[in-house]
Amino acid sequence: MQNEIRKQLGMKSALTVQSSMDRPNIKLTLVKRPAGCGGKNTVQESYDFIYQPLVDELRADKSSFERTIVYSKINWCGYGYEEVVRPLKNGDKEDNIEKCVAQFHSPCTSEMKSKVLSDMASPGSDLKLLFATEAFSMGTDSPNVRRVIHAGVPKTLEIYIQEIGRAGRDGKSSTAILYYNKSDISQAVPGMTDGMRDYCNSKTCRRAYLCEHFGCEFSEMNFKHECCDLCEMECTCNQCSETKSEIPSEMEQTDNIIDVPQSATDVGLKSSILATVIDYFESENECLNMPNAAIYTGLTKELANLISENYQAYLSGTIILEQYPKIGPEIAENISIIVQSIVLNNSNY
Ligand SMILES: [Zn+2]
Ligand SMILES: [Zn+2]
Repeated sequence: MQNEIRKQLGMKSALTVQSSMDRPNIKLTLVKRPAGCGGKNTVQESYDFIYQPLVDELRADKSSFERTIVYSKINWCGYGYEEVVRPLKNGDKEDNIEKCVAQFHSPCTSEMKSKVLSDMASPGSDLKLLFATEAFSMGTDSPNVRRVIHAGVPKTLEIYIQEIGRAGRDGKSSTAILYYNKSDISQAVPGMTDGMRDYCNSKTCRRAYLCEHFGCEFSEMNFKHECCDLCEMECTCNQCSETKSEIPSEMEQTDNIIDVPQSATDVGLKSSILATVIDYFESENECLNMPNAAIYTGLTKELANLISENYQAYLSGTIILEQYPKIGPEIAENISIIVQSIVLNNSNY
């Protein structure tokens, strides 16, 4: 591979500097996106699930939005871009929002590409959110990318590690979030390697998995929550213990929570959970394709309300299934994924 890169860059006798593949300042997180039930709308919803919180975050405050790259297939780059620049509900365009967002893929003109490259190379430029394909990778220099998001799964771990390596090149803490579902990593996907599949299904430390795959030395992090989503669950630092104790146990969650004083972010979080859960329920109910499907599936507006009001109790698919066995394990799991993902998108990295 190195020889190939050198050949492509026309470097015959250039000095090769090989740094470790392990990048401890990048936290590795995997999030399941809802499984679709086929049909175009559902695929779109699956991307909205990833993009909408980003679009809302950028629109809410451009200046505090940290530079983010979203990798996806080419048509979903365009879709994400359009979601940001489309007029607001009242028909107005938001001031200068176009400056904050860009696309980078093969069909872009070389002029467009070099504009993106120079904006990304400059830490102070307005460009905050870049929708890109694999084309944005090697040889790009963007020091202050704080988040790399994958909407869908790269074919190989080599591509994946190359792309998450765009984050935190200034050495500061950064996050890599990979959104995937079962069909992303099915055996039917051409070119998808077993390594990539196993990484998504791994039940042990993501970083340890990558270190083993690439043969680099693994060293424990100071705090487990800085390592990966799986280590974070085991972290016992003060900060993590506090957060975990705020989540009510499965028995005491239903009645009292509405009386607790709510912060503005909490209200926003709940309404965002409510809207997404209702959308999801509607798509599941449509799949059943019969009148009053909600009665048969149990996926009602009342349940959506209950979930959004008490979202902290719905972070685990197992607990949801215990309370509502009727909905089945897959839907219980999807509900917990939706809640987790929205809570995650609202917390500060
Ligand atoms: Zn880990
Ligand atoms: Zn911790």
